[in-house]
Amino acid sequence: MKIPKEVRIHCPYCKKHTVHTVETAKKRPRRTLAQGQRRFLRKMKGYGSFPKENPKGREKPTKKVDLRYKCKECGKMHTKGKGFRIKRLEIKRI
Ligand SMILES: [Zn+2]
Repeated sequence: MKIPKEVRIHCPYCKKHTVHTVETAKKRPRRTLAQGQRRFLRKMKGYGSFPKENPKGREKPTKKVDLRYKCKECGKMHTKGKGFRIKRLEIKRI
């Protein structure tokens, strides 16, 4: 799927239509103070197994892409809906 590198969409911070640059969300380190992550780290301590195994036998053929839109005026980033499944992503300058 081809996606333009720059789009003119509504910015919720500027409250008007501005030019946004499109990029995919980058992986960030997990917040170690979040409740779920603290529970996970406590469970992983010492001997014993992984908390819960991933369900087997129904792997999906595609990965989800998470697009982020960065406003050129205020520099803030926001999303437009949820991630969606596509085989190949191309962010092109049109
Ligand atoms: Zn803005």
